[in-house]
Amino acid sequence: MRRSLAILVLFAILVPWPRTAGAVVLEQVLVFVGHHHARVLLVLDGAVEDPRTSSAPGVGRAPPRARVLLPGTTASGTLTSAYRPIPGGVEMPVDQGGIAALAIGEVSGGSEVVVTLAEPLAATLLKVGRRALLLDLRSPQASPDPSLPGPDVLARFLNGVGFVRDEAALPGSRPRIVVDAGHGGEDTGAVGPTGTRESDVALGLAKRVADELEHRLGAEVFLTRDADRFVSLQDRAALANGQDADLFLSIHLNAAPTPALWGVETYYLDVASDADAARVARRENASVSGPEDPTSAVVSQLRVSGTSALSRRLAHEVQEAVIRRLSTVFGPDQIRDLGVKSAMFHVLVAARMPAILFEASFLSHPEEELRLRTPAFQRETADAVVEGVGRYLEAVRP
Ligand SMILES: [Zn+2]
Repeated sequence: MRRSLAILVLFAILVPWPRTAGAVVLEQVLVFVGHHHARVLLVLDGAVEDPRTSSAPGVGRAPPRARVLLPGTTASGTLTSAYRPIPGGVEMPVDQGGIAALAIGEVSGGSEVVVTLAEPLAATLLKVGRRALLLDLRSPQASPDPSLPGPDVLARFLNGVGFVRDEAALPGSRPRIVVDAGHGGEDTGAVGPTGTRESDVALGLAKRVADELEHRLGAEVFLTRDADRFVSLQDRAALANGQDADLFLSIHLNAAPTPALWGVETYYLDVASDADAARVARRENASVSGPEDPTSAVVSQLRVSGTSALSRRLAHEVQEAVIRRLSTVFGPDQIRDLGVKSAMFHVLVAARMPAILFEASFLSHPEEELRLRTPAFQRETADAVVEGVGRYLEAVRP
């Protein structure tokens, strides 16, 4: 018995990762953690026939595990590249909510998600709409954690929401880029000490970026708004998804409770990288319809995996280009590099292509506010954003 098990394990390690033509693709794995209770959402691009789950208690040094077998499926390249290679598959450490790590592996006839548990949890598999499954993992002694999103909320969340595609824009084709001017209409965003409104400066910058993307990179550009009007965060992402865009650039101005904070920073979607990043996300997410919005509850607990590699690359190219150019034009001591950070932005969650949120400078800082209003600063900043996008496209389109 023991010998045949060893052979099975060896077989799993040696079998290459087959890419079955026409297979349903496991696009995304999202983890929601609660109190002795966790849920793992598996998002596919089609329906899976006969998915199965099993759990095994820990034996000896082997920790308890739960498994989901997905017959006829294969894992997306974006997803597997975000995980750490292990023999026979890839793994991501979680260390929260009773989950130690998640692994995605290939088995005969499909793919398998293996959850290594920090405590024994009972596994139940639930359907979420047509193309997602929810693995519920709960301690038999614990009551269900009401803060975890259920199948109904997640089905609504997934409706119209996709995830970053595997491929960058094709070489030779015109890149399709959505430029999103933050805020607008009754949502003015931040307001500077002398009354400068974020929504106005963001629109000016976005229009300039859009023009330059067209002229210098030959891109096909879509603005989420070209006037002072309100557009919901969901509608902004829906536009990008509907246009099948290659990139999504959201342009904002920063603000802080203290007027001393200044500098330039660029965000991509992930859990907040620090307390300041969480604060920026709270502010930029404020125009979502309120605490009853199911998407809002989902996003607040989301641990995104696998979507951020291209977005992170894009964020670095844009941030570096802006700092380089502005330091040259205005002097290095006049420009402060706050770097690339990650946080949970609603507008980025729902966009299914590499997406960043650029915070040009602080409207709450008196000198930055005045500078932001000058055409020269806006022009140099916008041109540098376009330069960064150009570098990104050169790098990812061989
Ligand atoms: Zn903003």
